[in-house]
Amino acid sequence: MTTLCAPTSEVTCFGCCPPIRPPHYDPLDYAGSLRREFSENRAAFLTHGPGYRPIVGYSCWALGFLDARGRTVGCLLHPAQNGGQDLRELVDYGSKCARESCLPAREFSRLPPQGRRFWLTLVAGYNSFYYSSRRANPLFHILEWGARLLEILRLQSLELGWSSTELLARHRFLLAPNLKPRAHRYILAGLLSRNSLAACSPQGLYQELQQIRSAAVEFDEAQGPPPCDQPAHPAHQLPLPHDLLDFIRFGLGLPRTSLERAGQLKAYLDRLIER
Ligand code: SF4
Ligand code: SF4
Repeated sequence: MTTLCAPTSEVTCFGCCPPIRPPHYDPLDYAGSLRREFSENRAAFLTHGPGYRPIVGYSCWALGFLDARGRTVGCLLHPAQNGGQDLRELVDYGSKCARESCLPAREFSRLPPQGRRFWLTLVAGYNSFYYSSRRANPLFHILEWGARLLEILRLQSLELGWSSTELLARHRFLLAPNLKPRAHRYILAGLLSRNSLAACSPQGLYQELQQIRSAAVEFDEAQGPPPCDQPAHPAHQLPLPHDLLDFIRFGLGLPRTSLERAGQLKAYLDRLIER
């Protein structure tokens, strides 16, 4: 199966290596020095083989070019590079390295093969440095809309004969950095279940999204704090749709709430979406 980390034999992502990085680190800012570092790391690994050496600072000696032409970048200690043997403990961060997985990669893995192909056309021609950059690679933002909504968007685009590029050119808000996908995807999926993209003007869809979100914020504020007989729980643990819980956490900024209050909010939101 195609993964977001290694979508083709020509391109890989190394955006989460090494696991300790300065805030807002983007490898594209350091492409020149990283190229040299990746060549040197590959040459040293091929010459001397693996050995125990903890990561020092922000760079990892095991991150290097995976091919002789310097197209793909990745972990030289990964099982895929060592006949199935995981050597990442040699940098002292092995378990952290093995656990590392970003939200976009997890959402990508939930897409069917046709969905993966559809969205990957957005990055056709990218090299591994551009592909690994959150600033340059639109997939990091787009995938936060979530696999369920991305499938709705893809299927409606196909009916209209749109490519992924055409969809985003028409509905630019899907890429807007100030519009958090996780705070809006429950509402947008609801709106697109009721109306197809063909029937929505891009501006109208965006405005409706914002109006519903603002109305839900006012509704929640008007309720005041939950009564004592309604205990608050971590919002992400409530037995309600995942996208709704993301709206509560990221759209309303509530890390905890009661099941009753979340249920009332869902009923209110669903009424607004159905209108
Ligand atoms: S940043 Fe995400 S896509 Fe890139 S290598 Fe890490 S988990 Fe994979
Ligand atoms: S050991 Fe491998 S996975 Fe871990 S930081 Fe280094 S290059 Fe990345």
